[in-house]
Parts: sequence; structure tokens; C-alpha cells
Amino acid sequence: MALPSAAERTQSDLAHLIHPLYHPTDHQEPRIWVEGNGVMLKDLDGNEVIDGLSGLWNVNVGHGRRELAEAALNQMSTLAYCSSYTGSSNLPAIELAERLSGLVYPSIKTFFFTSGGAESTESSFKTARFYWKAHGKPEKVKIISRMLGYHGVTMAAMSATGLPEYWTMFEPRVPNILHIESPYPYRFEGGDGTVSQGIAAANLLEEAILREGPDTVAAFIAEPVQGAGGVIVPQDDYFQRIREICDQYEVLFISDEVITGFGRTGAWFGLEHWNVEPDIMQFAKGITSGYIPMGGIGVSDKIKEAIDSTPPEKRWMHAYTYSGHPTCSAVALANLDVFEKEDLVQRASEMGNRLQEGLHTLDKMDHVGNVRGLGMMAAVEFVADKTTKQPFEASEKVGLRMGKELVKRGLYTRMRGDTICLAPPLITTADQIDTIVETVRASIRATFDG
Ligand code: PMP
Repeated sequence: MALPSAAERTQSDLAHLIHPLYHPTDHQEPRIWVEGNGVMLKDLDGNEVIDGLSGLWNVNVGHGRRELAEAALNQMSTLAYCSSYTGSSNLPAIELAERLSGLVYPSIKTFFFTSGGAESTESSFKTARFYWKAHGKPEKVKIISRMLGYHGVTMAAMSATGLPEYWTMFEPRVPNILHIESPYPYRFEGGDGTVSQGIAAANLLEEAILREGPDTVAAFIAEPVQGAGGVIVPQDDYFQRIREICDQYEVLFISDEVITGFGRTGAWFGLEHWNVEPDIMQFAKGITSGYIPMGGIGVSDKIKEAIDSTPPEKRWMHAYTYSGHPTCSAVALANLDVFEKEDLVQRASEMGNRLQEGLHTLDKMDHVGNVRGLGMMAAVEFVADKTTKQPFEASEKVGLRMGKELVKRGLYTRMRGDTICLAPPLITTADQIDTIVETVRASIRATFDG
């Protein structure tokens, strides 16, 4: 019997599969991926492209790693799954938690595992509330987040996500979650000129805490570099001031490192760039390079102490069936082996510099409003007018056209509006980085001159 044709597969997809952020009009000609190798992806028609976003910012070690597949095979053949609920544990989860304690921020040595980013957000929020209840401050429940932040799309995570298009058809949002403005250096216009832009942007947190009442605020959540919102790197003095404010008003600081964790920015974790430590660090994606679903949170010693010292009837009653999944943990360990063997964080730093420098050679081109990034995550934002920073009219569909030009030239990635987002695998070679830059250059010419 003949295999179904690509057209038949597409019909089947349209009939039976609902995709993330779905509307069928966007899905009439889906790319059906069949193979990945290194930084390359191949589709059902045999076209090969550079995976410019490492899947969804997660395939940090690149595609096609047998050692990760073998780790899953070995663990599944030995003990695929067991409960990790109180009273049970397993060897890979224990080993992974101990190993992470030596990699993340010095004050974070204890971990809870989840299946992905949104579950990690929920775990962080619940842990923050738990902490304050354990300290006799049950009114501290609010979460402050930022516009342009992305923290997942389960109900509380969606409510913290600061991209209103994710709210529209699902409101009302979960109460007690509010937003301050993003520090977005290219567009931030707050402050009265007496302090730097970064301090002014951070001070918005202080204003929000005072407005709400410090006794009602449990935590502040932020990505070190806002990813899905358009790769927004804050000003250099922003996070130090955020840390100060959180300390002053007794607000826990949650760092959402679902994208920035595991080498993406050229450091193991994002806040290392600014010498700041969070109270809770959440992760997903890069922990297994996307080979198998996994996420988690790491908590500081003072939070661990609160968990350990509450009476059993007031325990940290939070759980997922797949917390500490042995197979996912084994794959994570194999993934970390690759990081260490290939010195991937150092490599991400070097290749990241090359990517950033390369993209900055586009600065002077027409309509290139802002080139930004850190390590192996970068963005190029296009505007109608470079002087006023006026965006294009949506009807011009610049983002859509640019995306098509990029893919025509062999670079597959995601646009956020009129901004190209790039986050290639950490194993991308110097030549491939240069190819990415030249592909973006040629696509800009084709979009605006063509
Ligand atoms: N936080 C951040 C910073 C993310 O980038 C994402 C996913 N892009 C999430 C949370 C949610 O992760 P998931 O899609 O695994 O729920």
C-alpha cells in the first residue's frame, strides 16, 4: 500500500489535530517535520533548513543526539516510571537534583521537577504563597509580573503572561496577578530623567508594591531576558535594583529561566550576567534540550527551610504525577553530560558574541529599528520610521513577509510581530552563524527593496 501523500497528511492534520495558538487559516500548508540533525531540520518534502529557534528555544544541544536517546532507552528498559510522591524516590532524580545544585545560583540547592514551563510557573507561585503562609503572613498572595513577559498558558501562568492576545478568549484572568511595564530599552520612556532608564524601569516595581501594599505581595516574576515577548534584554542596572526592592519589601523574586537557563545567554543561568540571585528559579526546555518534556523549580535555602519546618498538616501539598520522572531525569543527566563534554556554555558565549556582532552589521539598513540580544538569543525589530520608531501598519504584514523570505533562503524561525527572533542551537558553528546573519540581510533586502 502506498504511503499517504503530503497533501493527505495535511488533510488529516486539519481534521484531527489542534495546534498551539491554533487557527486553521494559518495551517493550510503546514511544514511537516520529519528529521533533525545538528542545527538542520528536514520536512516531508525533503527541504532542509537551519533551525533558527532551536525548536522552541529548547533544543540547545542540537538535533539527533544518540546519547540522549540511549539514556531514555536504558532507563525505560530498567525503570521507565515510578512515583516520586513522599516516601518514594529514584536514582536519576536524586542524581539530577544534586547535580543541578552545583550548577545554579549558590543559594539554590533544592529542586522540584515538573513536565514543562507552565507547571513550573504554577509551582513557583504556589511556593511563594506557601512561604508567606509558613511565615505567618497569609495576606501576601499577589504576584507582580511584567508586560511582554511569557510564563506559559495554564490559567495562573496565562494571567502572569503579559501578552494580552493570550488572554482575549479565555478571560477572566486569575485575580491577584498584576503587571508592570517591561524595561524594553528601545521603547521605555518612563522616569523623570533623574535616574537611569534601568533604575526607572525597576522602580515601577516599587511603585506597584507600594500601591498594592507590601503586605499583600508574595512575589515578582521576571525572565532575565524576555523571550517570546521579543528577546528584550534589560538595562545593565535593572536587576540589581529589582533585587534591592524585593529585599526591602519582602517580596520573593522568581526568575523564569525557561528560555535563559542552560547556556542560552552564554552563562549557565541568565541573572549571572548581573550578579543577582533569585529566591526561586524556574526552568524547562534546555534541561533536556527538548528531547523529553521536563521542567522544574529550584528554591533558595530559606524557602527549603520553610518547607522543612512546617508541621505535616500544613505541608507543601503540591504535586504532579510526573515530578521526578526517572526517564526524563536520565535524559536530563545525559544532556548535562553533553554540555560538559562539549563546553557548550562557553561555546554559546563565543558563538553568541559572533551572532550579536554579525547582526549589528545590519543596524544601518533601512527599517532596521533595533538589533538586540544576549548570547545565543537575538532579535531584529523592524519599524516604518527609524527616527520616530513608528511601527509598520499591521496591514503591511511585514513580519509575515519577512518570515517567508527567511524560510525561502533556508532559515526557519519565529517572528513576534515585525521582530525576527533567533535562538539557534548552542552547537551552531561560526560558518552557520555567518550564514544566519547573511540570510537575514538578504531577506531584509528582499522584503523592503523587492
Ligand atoms: N516561561 C517561559 C519564559 C517560556 O518561554 C515558556 C515557553 N515558551 C514558558 C514559561 C512555558 O513553558 P511551556 O510551554 O513548557 O508550558
